[in-house]
Amino acid sequence: MFAVTQIRANEQILEYKGKRVSWAQAQREYARSAAEDGHTFYFDLDDGRVIDGAQGGTSARWVNHSCAPNCEAEQDGSRVFFLALRDIKPGEELFIDYGLIVEGRKTAALKTLYACRCGSDGCRGTMLAAS
Ligand SMILES: [Zn+2]
Repeated sequence: MFAVTQIRANEQILEYKGKRVSWAQAQREYARSAAEDGHTFYFDLDDGRVIDGAQGGTSARWVNHSCAPNCEAEQDGSRVFFLALRDIKPGEELFIDYGLIVEGRKTAALKTLYACRCGSDGCRGTMLAAS
């Protein structure tokens, strides 16, 4: 996902849209989809639900992870918006820090699945939330 115009710091860029489902339902759908690459379009809301960007989502679901992002997600009620953390030039790729939360123990397999290779100076080596 790349900027096509100049974006100013704090500008609201995208809304993360999709179907709102309970976390439990999202887990069931994930298990059923047999997705083994750990890739989903789930965005956690603080009320225990997730937005499933695979169902009626916007292009916001294509924004990649970086440990040094130029955007951040902000929840407003049950809506989620991506805001620019700094001025962004046309052609720059948009990133947010996924800060993924996973249930249970962080196994080696899980760490491999969510490894980060963003290459930023402060890369923490994972897309999982800092613990
Ligand atoms: Zn990284």
